Amino acid sequence: MKPTLVLVGRPNVGKSTLFNRLTKTRDALVADFPGLTRDRRYGLGRAAEREFLVVDTAGFDPVAKEGIVHEMAKQAEQAIAEADALLFMVDARSGLTPHDEQIAVRLRRAGRPTFLVVNKAEGMNRAMVSAEFHQLGLGDPLCISSAHGDNVTSLMELILESF
Ligand code: GDP
Ligand code: MG
Repeated sequence: MKPTLVLVGRPNVGKSTLFNRLTKTRDALVADFPGLTRDRRYGLGRAAEREFLVVDTAGFDPVAKEGIVHEMAKQAEQAIAEADALLFMVDARSGLTPHDEQIAVRLRRAGRPTFLVVNKAEGMNRAMVSAEFHQLGLGDPLCISSAHGDNVTSLMELILESF
């Protein structure tokens, strides 16, 4: 059985960049425009000599009640329901935001294994970045760079270990 790993997080944290790296396809659109990817996308990922399904979701706003943002949130909710594990992505460069905190509240209720992934961590002080995101109450943050590939293989080894 291939585990289903779902990428969630607010827009622009690098979910599609990680999806592309894991699937090595151009299936997920990577852009600087928050919320451009409005659907969830599926790909076959390979890492640590394992195969898994990876799902890229649009930016997630659990409190949106209407409009495109609400549609994006519904897509993310459906993806969470299908997940064997959640990769909650946050951005080391922008730091912890109120939007991250709202998503964390939702994810804690999801009752799925959740890995807190701090992206864009290249060249950052990992101890400081980790201390900040530790406040989310989702365990030890795992620092990566999706764009450069730093630490992505060890992240996937850690996640896939439990499946
Ligand atoms: P999404 O909205 O969460 O899917 O985010 P994207 O994957 O579209 O990335 C948003 C922006 O962050 C793009 O400009 C990416 O090039 C940039 N980005 C993604 N990963 C990294 C990273 O590891 N380091 C840095 N510095 N930028 C990144
Ligand atoms: Mg995206």
